[in-house]
Amino acid sequence: MMESALTARDRVGVQDFVLLENHTSEVAFIENLRKRFKENLIYTYIGSVLVSVNPYKDLEIYTKQHMERYRGVNFYEVSPHIYAVSDNAYRSMRTERRDQCILISGESGAGKTEASKKVLQYYAVTCPASDKVQTVKDRLLQSNPVLEAFGNAKTLRNDNSSRFGKYMDIQFDFKGAPVGGHILNYLLEKSRVVHQSHGERNFHIFYQLIEGGEEDLLRRLGLERNAQQYQYLVKGNCPKVSSINDRNDWKVVRKALTVIGFTDDDVEELLNIIASVLHLGNVQYGSEESGNAYITTDSQIKYLSRLIGVDGSVLKEALTHKKIIAKGEELMSPLNQEQAASARDALSKAIYGRTFTWLVNKINASLEFKDSSFSSKNASVIGLLDIYGFEVFQNNSFEQFCINYCNEKLQQLFIELTLKSEQDEYEAEGITWEPVQYFNNKIICDLVEEKFKGIISILDEECLRPGDASDITFLEKLEDTVGGHPHFVTHKLADGKTRKVMGREEFRLLHYAGEVNYNVNGFLDKNNDLLFRNLKEAMCMSENKILTQCFDREELTDKKRPETAATQFKTSLAQLMEILMSKEPSYVRCIKPNDAKQAGRFDEVLIRHQVKYLGLMENLRVRRAGFAYRRRYETFLQRYKSLCPETWPNWQGRLVDGVSTLVKHLGYKPEEYKLGRTKIFIRFPKTLFATEDALEVRK
Ligand code: ADP
Ligand code: MG
Repeated sequence: MMESALTARDRVGVQDFVLLENHTSEVAFIENLRKRFKENLIYTYIGSVLVSVNPYKDLEIYTKQHMERYRGVNFYEVSPHIYAVSDNAYRSMRTERRDQCILISGESGAGKTEASKKVLQYYAVTCPASDKVQTVKDRLLQSNPVLEAFGNAKTLRNDNSSRFGKYMDIQFDFKGAPVGGHILNYLLEKSRVVHQSHGERNFHIFYQLIEGGEEDLLRRLGLERNAQQYQYLVKGNCPKVSSINDRNDWKVVRKALTVIGFTDDDVEELLNIIASVLHLGNVQYGSEESGNAYITTDSQIKYLSRLIGVDGSVLKEALTHKKIIAKGEELMSPLNQEQAASARDALSKAIYGRTFTWLVNKINASLEFKDSSFSSKNASVIGLLDIYGFEVFQNNSFEQFCINYCNEKLQQLFIELTLKSEQDEYEAEGITWEPVQYFNNKIICDLVEEKFKGIISILDEECLRPGDASDITFLEKLEDTVGGHPHFVTHKLADGKTRKVMGREEFRLLHYAGEVNYNVNGFLDKNNDLLFRNLKEAMCMSENKILTQCFDREELTDKKRPETAATQFKTSLAQLMEILMSKEPSYVRCIKPNDAKQAGRFDEVLIRHQVKYLGLMENLRVRRAGFAYRRRYETFLQRYKSLCPETWPNWQGRLVDGVSTLVKHLGYKPEEYKLGRTKIFIRFPKTLFATEDALEVRK
């Protein structure tokens, strides 16, 4: 009998890493993950952090029965699950009246978005509801397919990769029913609209429309049912993906738009925009003898003009000229072929990016709970963050720089909140706090974001500087300004060994999770994110009801320079941190088991890399620094009371005395445990194992 409990642990590992005998060993950590993964146990805890390994197959663990099993049950009494985390957050929100947030991180394809959907589904099914609430639940759920259609794409890493970061608040009323929601979106990868790498696609919506759109709809939009016809859809040479059914998805999205409250008019205008982007991509240029560009594809202009309601000749001029102001006079200066093509692409990106923001706002309006007796101020909130994890590619650019900066900020938040909550708990329980050594990554956050001397400030400065500013002068400025920083290196500054693996146009940041080289090529352009003035003017004339909201005339008269992309991102991150700081966090760390998107394959090298970049060992160390295991007295007593005649079947006195009697009977030594105000703290896993085994023997 005793043996069976032990072999079970041998086979399926421990369900909480803090119970590992050798908690500093990465080998043991990964071995435990592997054991569990083999048994389809994809979830494991590190204390209250949930580690999840993408199974790449449908497991029967998300049924309604499973949801019921986790409802209102103590975190530790059932096997680890995303539902346990969801339920725990919900109950803390209800009982402690404290706003919660669930932070989901991991690299592309690790299962973040799926996890966030599971959380949402859990609340949709298990929370109380009325008719009115049902509408909100439906809308919350249906916002997903819409956002995914416009913001997700097939990449090499993930067939349904989110190309934007998302934070969603779910608001609950005093009865605990979900009554509203609000979404914040971050940094949509706009460049995908005009270019895709080999084996990748543009955003799903383009293919859905072309594959699924009804005949007369396509005719009206001037589109053919053939993705190969569109320049913006052929770059990755990957129109069809076996795991994706664009035609079906179209139906799902079309229906979701209606559920969310889009009118037929809204949808028509939205699709006009999607079609215009495709037509824009097919606008081709020729070159006059003078070198000036001219448009060779008049039919595209005709469609464009009709779909977005801007005069054709205005469009043509705007797509081939740039307006400059010289000596107080406006002049139209002709563009050459290459400049014109890049102006066209800039317009496509601007249109798509702004339409995406419009879409999010529109969804938010439909999720807003409108009831005079209820204001969102007195709602309780659970926030869900599904945001890109650390990215390290062969070639890293501005986008990776922003994403990795974001992860530094999240790590910073994690450090502050976990260490602080550990410390708070010890204090609240009256147990001496033993300080933990850890690397504080604030120094890297400062390097990136500090006013005047951080990398973003220097980048902005170069973007503003007229004259010879370029990506290279930016790099030189960096060397001058932050060259001495311990977490910054360039080719010029590096020692021999590092220099070998660095390009001359790169700078390297030593992130908390490891080093990344960034190629400065394109940093200035991407940060400026400029759209020529005459293109903006043309868009302001649009009669498309969505575009009129996206391109505001005020933008034209506003003398102030628009904020750069990096500064906007920095500001929105600062706001996000503030939102998260005010809430009690739960963490879900997602791991991708292999690069082939295959079930059952556990690629150890890849996983070790992620364990490192997710900071899981550090996490475990903090958690294990003091006591591996802690339980509320009533929980502990309830579980083990049968092991001691004095506590069985019921302990009558104070809980703390019951627990004390119980553990003395079990032979716990004084150095093995401490009794706090409401909880018992156990230092070593083996103590608890012995108790668990004893329980097993009794059964
Ligand atoms: P991420 O958002 O982290 O990039 P996704 O959540 O989109 O990754 O997951 C990528 C793919 O992995 C999904 O499309 C799905 O096929 C699979 N997947 C992720 N999580 C699960 C899960 N819990 N069960 C089954 N398949 C999953
Ligand atoms: Mg995702």
